[in-house]
Amino acid sequence: MILSLVYLDHAATTMVRDVVLVEMLPFWKEEFGNASSVYPLARVSREAIECARRRVQLAIGAVFPEEIFFTSGGSESDNWALCGVMRAHAGKGRHLITSKIEHKAILNSCAWLEKEGFDVTYLDVDAKGEINLNQLDDAIREDTVLISIMFANNEIGTIEPIEEIGKIAKRHHVLFHVDAVQAMGCLPVDVQKLGVDLLSLSAHKFYGPKGVGALYVKKGTKIEPLIFGGHQEFGMRAGTENVAGIVGLGKALELIVKEQSDYATKLVSLREAFIKEVQKQIPFCHLNGHRVKRHPGNVNFSFEGVDGRVVTLLLAEKGICCSSGSACNSHDSSPSHVLKAIGLSDQEANSTVRFTFGRENSFSEMEYVVKMLKEIVNRLRNDG
Ligand SMILES: *Cc1c(COP(=O)(O)O)cnc(C)c1O
Repeated sequence: MILSLVYLDHAATTMVRDVVLVEMLPFWKEEFGNASSVYPLARVSREAIECARRRVQLAIGAVFPEEIFFTSGGSESDNWALCGVMRAHAGKGRHLITSKIEHKAILNSCAWLEKEGFDVTYLDVDAKGEINLNQLDDAIREDTVLISIMFANNEIGTIEPIEEIGKIAKRHHVLFHVDAVQAMGCLPVDVQKLGVDLLSLSAHKFYGPKGVGALYVKKGTKIEPLIFGGHQEFGMRAGTENVAGIVGLGKALELIVKEQSDYATKLVSLREAFIKEVQKQIPFCHLNGHRVKRHPGNVNFSFEGVDGRVVTLLLAEKGICCSSGSACNSHDSSPSHVLKAIGLSDQEANSTVRFTFGRENSFSEMEYVVKMLKEIVNRLRNDG
């Protein structure tokens, strides 16, 4: 890792792989053609986009390449899925079901839709972060159009029962959107097996570039556009394509999916070694999230009596990158909505540190981090 940083914040973002960067580079320079133009230079861009689209199609098990739409990232994909589907079905029904632990890209889209007169049910989760399938079933009404539940939580790592939710959605003829931004690459994602109608991805969470994502929309699903303008992306998402970004997304996804089971195995072994060592060496710590149904690379601990933000700042001085709660919350002093939803007090939520592992991490790094963490937590507890 650059400058011997120990990077344990892969849920926030990841570094672009060399091979991905190499494929992207020409599209910022010599292959700069606008994919909509007619000359050969433009054709190179167009073909690169279609190659990326097929890579995404294969990676997630979509039936048609036309089911893949490129966007500016996970947030846009989530916004578009929710706003686009609800607006397109407003005549049929105005009810949407989600959970209390979704990413802000989902929750703030829901808040906006409520202002437009849509009705949102926010499902509770249990102490491990799992939704209750019976509660979901009970929440479905005549006018329910869409269920949106994330695959793996970005803060506590809990994996939701996506396949079961897909069956419930199908039984009630309700559409199902999945935010798979954290899951992609770490867990098997097959849109047909999971029974999902829409699925969000973001390249920078799987060693691709920032600012590019995709939305899978099952053929025949009614959805209105979110961005208006030209005819790009089958007339559904306007704007001159981010060709380099799209190429990077396609390559990064192809690679991570090929490696998925080895990658997950590596992450689980790092995760388990780290959890075991922290629990052995640091008293009064609690692991948040599900013990088993958990994102392979996620560790989230509350350390009694210390401020998680202070811990992350002191770890940063030792070259260790991790976050307190979620990266999105690090500019905000209110406790994380996810930690509150699993029943933590404000104080417990504020004593939380998240470590998320990735490709480049090693066991020797883990030892160093545990050592530093132990020193810091002990010091803060003795000062307090
Ligand atoms: C990172 C993330 C997003 C947002 O993706 P961006 O590409 O950063 O906009 C959405 N959902 C989840 C679960 C995420 O982890």
